[in-house]
Amino acid sequence: MKNSILGKRFFNDGHEIVVLTDLQRRARDSIYEKMLDGRYVSEVVKCPLCDGNSHITLSEKDFYGLPVKTVICRNCSMIYANPRLSRDALVGMYANEYRDLDRVHPTSGEYFELEIKKAERIAEYLTKNGVLSKLNDKLIIEIGCGAGGALHHFKKLGFNTMGCDLSPRNVEYGVSRGLDIRYGDIDALMLSLDFNFKDIGLVIYEQVFEHLSEPKLELERLHGLLPKNSFLYIGVPGIKNIANHYGSDFLRFLQLPHLCHFELRTLVKLVQSTGFSFLCGDESARAIFSRSGVRSLLPVSDSNYLATIEYLRILEIRRKVAVPFRRLKEVPIILGMGLASKIRNSRFIPQPIKSAASRFLKFAYHQFFK
Ligand SMILES: [Zn+2]
Repeated sequence: MKNSILGKRFFNDGHEIVVLTDLQRRARDSIYEKMLDGRYVSEVVKCPLCDGNSHITLSEKDFYGLPVKTVICRNCSMIYANPRLSRDALVGMYANEYRDLDRVHPTSGEYFELEIKKAERIAEYLTKNGVLSKLNDKLIIEIGCGAGGALHHFKKLGFNTMGCDLSPRNVEYGVSRGLDIRYGDIDALMLSLDFNFKDIGLVIYEQVFEHLSEPKLELERLHGLLPKNSFLYIGVPGIKNIANHYGSDFLRFLQLPHLCHFELRTLVKLVQSTGFSFLCGDESARAIFSRSGVRSLLPVSDSNYLATIEYLRILEIRRKVAVPFRRLKEVPIILGMGLASKIRNSRFIPQPIKSAASRFLKFAYHQFFK
């Protein structure tokens, strides 16, 4: 592909389009090496929503500069990675590189605090829509719970909680904070002898559902196991939210660990096809579903893939207009990161001054550029 339907910057040139930390760059390079030498195998997949295999390529890279092909289904306009890493490669990537690749929060403690903030917003949304008050003393489960910050928040609100995650470091940290977290995916919970699905009131997938290799299959199994009066909350990066959160840049939205890309319409369609009923949702994108009730009709209209491509083209025009302003904003960040690296590697600066300078630069970054 010499050019993408969205423009030549979506061509695979191996370059990242955001400023990466040293840690992120090392993780990115490690993944790339393993993809090249076959330790991480890729596989071609069908559309996760309609099982179709007719699609158009939108991009050949992700924002880290990794060779990730993103396509749009001609049948249902679902956007997804194809080919993508195999299940084994994904498990390896989550165990070895993901934490370093994902965040500018290198410690589990910082990650945990970030998760608490997210949980506050989820709890608020559940309360606003009358779900939290129906949970009483039920169990709240989080699949892909990270270091467990969200579970910690719901535990503080008085709920029993349990979670699972594919990062050993996350699990270790969560357990050290007194949380019940198992290593693995939903299978790890299913295999727990002390676990009863009938106790569950709510299952949470927060910024996790887009990572699943078999989202339909997982929800179908979950639907069969959950009690009738239980709920499902899913929060994912929203395609229709790119203007707000990603500077109108579709490429900044794309990253190798994300296998499916949702707008509310495709999210609801996929979840409803597994038997859950849609209660509410928005384009941020998040939605609440109920296990009970008859399969409801789609609350959202169908869309064709050409309309979605047109939406992405308009985003790209908006991004181009905004580029000069964003470049100006990034200059101090790049200079600050260069300065931090020079101080860290200097043989002449005493350690206490290095630590103080590092704390100051971190503080300045969080104050002025976050
Ligand atoms: Zn499809």
